[in-house]
Amino acid sequence: MGNVCSPISYGFYSLLEISIVVCGIVILFYLAERARENCIDKERRLEELRTREAAEAEKSRVRKAVEAEMSRIAAELISKIDYFIRTRNRFDSRYPLAYRCALGSINQDGDVRANLQALATYNNISLMDFIRQQRSFMCYEDSSNAQVSVKYKTPFQGQIRVYGYFRCENCDRRWESGSTWRDKWQKCQGCESECYPHEQRILRQKE
Ligand SMILES: [Zn+2]
Repeated sequence: MGNVCSPISYGFYSLLEISIVVCGIVILFYLAERARENCIDKERRLEELRTREAAEAEKSRVRKAVEAEMSRIAAELISKIDYFIRTRNRFDSRYPLAYRCALGSINQDGDVRANLQALATYNNISLMDFIRQQRSFMCYEDSSNAQVSVKYKTPFQGQIRVYGYFRCENCDRRWESGSTWRDKWQKCQGCESECYPHEQRILRQKE
């Protein structure tokens, strides 16, 4: 009477306790497994993100390299065209902007052609279209023969002192100078004409 610890109820309670413990263990295992899966999932997503970022960085590196190469070739082409115009027989270094050069003859120059071909790898453009895009040239297309002139008095348009090459069209005198500047002439010592350099370059050491 009143004995709660009868063998039957005792067995029932210990069974209940065992069940609770087992359930607890199962839940713990389940939670641990879930945590492990979450961890793996997070790691995988991080890895994916890292791979994507690396691919993006590589793509941007390649794009920058291509752009740099393209502008290097374009700069070289501009300088070749400029040199071609300023070294024609009829070009007068006293009046650099006055001379109009036939587009056809520029197009036949070997150096210009080589550069245009190198540029075609990145930008397949006609010489006329290329020249039209540059601010250092003027295009004249009113007649059937397109013509091009330089837009600046000197090839170099930077702010520093550079080396220059001169040729006087009046007396055919030629000279070089380590002190030439943007849009500045020098007096010919043969006939006192004011001549602009037809070619300029960055100074070397000791110049
Ligand atoms: Zn002269």
